[in-house]
Amino acid sequence: MKEFNINSLVRKNILELQPYISFRDHNEFENAVLLDANESPFGELSRYPDSTQKKLKQKLSEIKNISANQIAVGNGSDELIDLIIKVFCEPKKDSILMMNPSFAMYGFYASINENKVIKLDLNADFEIVKDDFIRISKDFKSKVFFLCSPNNPTGNSIKDIEFYIKNFNGIVVVDEAYIEFSGEKSCIELLEKYPNLIVLQTFSKAWGMAGARVGMAYSSEEIIRLINTVKAPYNVNSLSSNKVIELIDKQENVKQNIESILNEISWLENEFQSVNCIKKVYPTDANFFLIEFEDVEKVYEKLLEKEILTSKRSPQIPNCIRINVGNREENIQLINVLNQCE
Ligand code: PMP
Repeated sequence: MKEFNINSLVRKNILELQPYISFRDHNEFENAVLLDANESPFGELSRYPDSTQKKLKQKLSEIKNISANQIAVGNGSDELIDLIIKVFCEPKKDSILMMNPSFAMYGFYASINENKVIKLDLNADFEIVKDDFIRISKDFKSKVFFLCSPNNPTGNSIKDIEFYIKNFNGIVVVDEAYIEFSGEKSCIELLEKYPNLIVLQTFSKAWGMAGARVGMAYSSEEIIRLINTVKAPYNVNSLSSNKVIELIDKQENVKQNIESILNEISWLENEFQSVNCIKKVYPTDANFFLIEFEDVEKVYEKLLEKEILTSKRSPQIPNCIRINVGNREENIQLINVLNQCE
């Protein structure tokens, strides 16, 4: 991207707004009497959370080696997808670009905001075709491109991501929800080079905190300020925020859990080889497999009958089911049922 003027990409009404920061979060008070927010004086959760999520951002800034002003925190990265669309996409006028197949929430939030969803079909290896990307981004001039890597539901990391960041005349959101399983480098290190880049990460997957709903956007200070402008003041609750801060201090456990999931992936890959109803197991860089079956309906129904819930991707991805990796006991149950599907 040659010349970059962020203001020309932002929705006009957003440019006139300021982020909401509560008065007490603007200032440093030691022992203030808090009569400003109509809270109850009783109980440990009686106070509103910090609207700027200062402590959490401080922690994240240390582990990600990035300024706290380059971090926005959301109620899951889902919320950040919504906020990014709200910042850049004018309803009824602008469009988003996403890969196909990819994570459905980009299209969901774009549709709610009345934006068109342009789909860039992946090839048979679930890679982007560069010529298609160039042609489609020229034709549609989408404001935001959501690039998911490792991609959900296909499981692969996208090659040469920098090419797409460099050649897109708009905002590129690299969604790294599954990056910790992949061994790939995060695009956070490209932020200095590309002012049109936003990187999304989450505590929901490798960190095991899906119930807490905490996700992060990393970008330039300007873009982070815009995201903070459209967020609800208290979007991340204090219970979740504190839990995540505690977890960051116990990262060793998280690393062990990732190791154990990677170990289960290898175990399953081996087991899948002798399951007859399987036609193809796609290679994965995430904590799930996309699997093609001889008779997808039969397998899906059999799993359901045994109360093993999986995510059927057929007919969009013909004959495929997405199955995530569980613990050993769950994985054994999965293999046992698959073996009954011959
Ligand atoms: N991005 C991708 C690619 C995902 O698969 C998911 C969750 N399924 C999310 C984002 C949303 O995660 P969160 O729990 O942080 O909202």
